[in-house]
Formats: sequence, C-alpha cells, structure tokens
Amino acid sequence: MGTEAEKTAKLLGGARTYPMRLETRSRTEFKDITGLLEKLILESGVANGTCLVFVPHTTAGILINENDDPNLQIDFDNFLKRLAPRAQDYQHNDGNCDAHLKAAVIGASKTLLIENGRLALGRWQGVFFCEFDGPRRRELRVKVIPD
Ligand code: ZN
Repeated sequence: MGTEAEKTAKLLGGARTYPMRLETRSRTEFKDITGLLEKLILESGVANGTCLVFVPHTTAGILINENDDPNLQIDFDNFLKRLAPRAQDYQHNDGNCDAHLKAAVIGASKTLLIENGRLALGRWQGVFFCEFDGPRRRELRVKVIPD
C-alpha cells in the first residue's frame, strides 16, 4: 500500500527507497551485500538507472572492492587498525573512537549504476557493509532511481 507519495512514484515509475536490515556478528566485519542489492534491484523492476546505498550510522560504512579473496578483508582490517588503533588517547572517550575514524575513511554512501537489471560492477568488484563497532543490528537505505 504505502503513502500517497509512494503510490504516485510507483505509477510514474519514479525513485523508491528500500530499507534493508543487517545483523553483524563481530566488532569488525566486512559483509558482502552485493547479492542482497542485486535481489532488491530485481524486485524493484528497474532495468537501467542508479542505486544509492546509504548507511545511517557513525561507526559503519560502505565499501566497493574485491570480493573474490576473503584474505583481503583481513588486510583492510589491518590497514584501518594501523590508521586508527583502538587503544589511543582520543578526545572522544567512549571507547569507539577508532570505529568513528574508520567509518569516516570508508564513507557512509556509494552510488552504483544499474544496467540491464543488474549492478554494473567490475569483474572483481563487490559491495561491502563495513562494521567497525559490532556486533549490532544495523540498517541501510537503498534508493533505486530509474533513468
Ligand atoms: Zn562514539
């Protein structure tokens, strides 16, 4: 059903926002959400357009990178730990400043292209939800905008 605005947007074939919920299981996690996004795009019926993924959290982010070798996630984790060690004399003193800094480096949103009903990613690219202060219940907002 939805609101009047949503009904109108659907009739006009306009943009729609989809909420997506996730649960993370450890303090740091790189969760491959490529398949979830592709499923959502398929269900939206949009063949060509833009997909915007936004994380409404201050200690999580969205990354596009290789999803073939899981060892790369360990390297990302180690790289970010060197940039922002957990035990450091931070001003933001609630024990998760490193997570805020890592999230700031990765960024809270990404814009992707939809071509022929699929994400137009490179051969080795995938989309990761990056958790830096888990385990937690998290959410994403995904906007699908037809051409
Ligand atoms: Zn904090």
